[in-house]
Amino acid sequence: MKLGNTTCFIFLSFPSLNETLEHKIFLLSFCFLSFPSVSKLWKIVIFHCSCAPSFSPQQTQRIKKMENKFDSEKVIEEFESLTKDAKRVQIETLKKILQENYEAEYLKKWNLDGRFDPQTYTSCVPVVTHKDLEPYIQKIADGASYPVLTGKPITTITLSSGTTQGKPKFVPYNDELTENTMQIYRTSFAFRNRAFPIGNGKALSFIFGSKQFTTKGGLLAGTATTNVYRSAQFKKTMKAMQTPCCSPDEVIFAPDFHQSLYCHLLCGLIFHEEIQIISSTFAHSIVHSFRTFELVWEELCSDIRTGVLSARITVDSIRTAMAKVLKPNTELADKIYNKCLGLTDWNGLIPELFPNCKYIYAIMTGSMEPYLKKLRVYAGGVRLLSADYGSSEGWIGANVNPDLPPEMTSFAVLPNIGYFEFLPLTSIDELDSIEPKPIGLTDVQLGEEYEVVVTNFAGLYRYRLGDVVKVIGFHNSTPKLQFVCRRNLMLTINIDKNTEKDLQLSVEAAAKLLAAEKLEVLDFTSHVDLTTDPGHYVIFWEVSGDASDEILNECCNCLDKSFVDAGYVSSRKVNAIGPLELRVLRRGTFQKILDHYVGLGSALNQFKTPRCVGPTNPKVLQILCNNVVKSYVSSSFC
Ligand code: AMP
Repeated sequence: MKLGNTTCFIFLSFPSLNETLEHKIFLLSFCFLSFPSVSKLWKIVIFHCSCAPSFSPQQTQRIKKMENKFDSEKVIEEFESLTKDAKRVQIETLKKILQENYEAEYLKKWNLDGRFDPQTYTSCVPVVTHKDLEPYIQKIADGASYPVLTGKPITTITLSSGTTQGKPKFVPYNDELTENTMQIYRTSFAFRNRAFPIGNGKALSFIFGSKQFTTKGGLLAGTATTNVYRSAQFKKTMKAMQTPCCSPDEVIFAPDFHQSLYCHLLCGLIFHEEIQIISSTFAHSIVHSFRTFELVWEELCSDIRTGVLSARITVDSIRTAMAKVLKPNTELADKIYNKCLGLTDWNGLIPELFPNCKYIYAIMTGSMEPYLKKLRVYAGGVRLLSADYGSSEGWIGANVNPDLPPEMTSFAVLPNIGYFEFLPLTSIDELDSIEPKPIGLTDVQLGEEYEVVVTNFAGLYRYRLGDVVKVIGFHNSTPKLQFVCRRNLMLTINIDKNTEKDLQLSVEAAAKLLAAEKLEVLDFTSHVDLTTDPGHYVIFWEVSGDASDEILNECCNCLDKSFVDAGYVSSRKVNAIGPLELRVLRRGTFQKILDHYVGLGSALNQFKTPRCVGPTNPKVLQILCNNVVKSYVSSSFC
């Protein structure tokens, strides 16, 4: 054993490591952190044997408290050190992933022969899509008894929300993904807490467990967020971050998300003074929840007044759990009732009901941006902080600049949670025939756009995520990415290319005309209709009230004109693309779409309205088409 001036621990343990020893290790580490001079000791020997005295209950409690305390500065320090050396960390991370999994059927196929360096890996293993890995994932789901994608067996399957593709996909899940999730949560919380510290309190978190089912091979399958919420680490991390959810587990994991949502709102009101944060995974859930509040607030007040839960809650486990928190409270009911009556158009609802709420936290970028306007109405002066970037396939980056407005949010990639590559985008689109080569994390160029390619700890190797990101800067040597759009969400008929973002901008421009009539676009989506000759774009809108035909005609023309892509404009001018059509939907249509996805196994908190509905999504197209109340055809370009 080499003994220099480094610290060396030797643990001699006769019985198996028990809690007492863990405490000693912890205390010792604490001592080192608190008194750096002690760490100059070059050798410490701890003899642990069964006759060693154990800690008193008070000592144990104190230790537990220290364990649970969140040390923002330490987390930031770790993040700084990882990102300063992102290239090396990436190489080590890849090595670790391959060492853990080289015996899996999939990796064996690519003949790595014990070489775990990036050069060998990227030249032997191909870039793939979910479709390529589907047969392997299916084998796992069917209960294959040998290592298919990972060395250690996969015991859980994640269902991606599928709201962008049409149907949920199976993705392998393991504990390492939970640990990565916690690392992301801790990292962004550390930066958030430095900028906007919170005290002890609760979070009103609109989180929902999805239905879980068992695959043919006996593996548990559910959404990624459900897997996370069910993990012990999640609760521990939330507690350490002083943001435990105010609702009981029975509400989070209720079999019916309408009932779950109602009870989340009720718990939020009961604990309204303790609520420090209002959060969800995606901002859509918060907006959806407060839109629901607008409809049920009187019923909620009545429940609080009488202490009797509404008859709409029929699930026994929720009723039993809610009985423990719901007590008759006339004073609170009156207070909330009067506050709601005093609001104009629900402006500032959140600070009115939750006076100690410090910020609202959820993913607000990408397809969530259209909900920001409504969220700001509810938020009044409460700050909106946009959350991190990840997917069912794993997390990618954390928002380490929480003070920026949501529209400017970027994500610093954590180099130890996966091996990341980036497919240059421009060359793909411009030179279809040349196969572009992905580049490494630290080789990306400022200002360029890329598709993210992920290698994770749960059996995905060089997997195209389908997301387009833009490099807008660097944090030390790791890139900061801005989310641009889903790559496959493209409105295109011939030479036109309009992304999700282009659609969003066009809808925003046209919605301004509605705002003059105090109306808003509640949600929207699009479709390329090729049944007409020439084909044309169809935009579906759900509007908050009745708008005149005149205004909607204007909106339709404005939508058409606002797609400024040169390919679209030139095609429209020569009628190679027909006039855009605006179809107005019956109120509640997007709720039906949400119900449809939840029925497929998705969870409300992972729901993203599909912004372009194609032929692979016939059920949603059918819901849309069956609920059209009016339609308008553009006269722009005539
Ligand atoms: P899913 O795994 O199906 O729930 O969805 C993951 C997808 O959600 C990602 O691939 C992105 O397209 C999108 N997404 C996740 N995080 C963000 C974010 N911070 N900003 C924008 N889009 C995001």
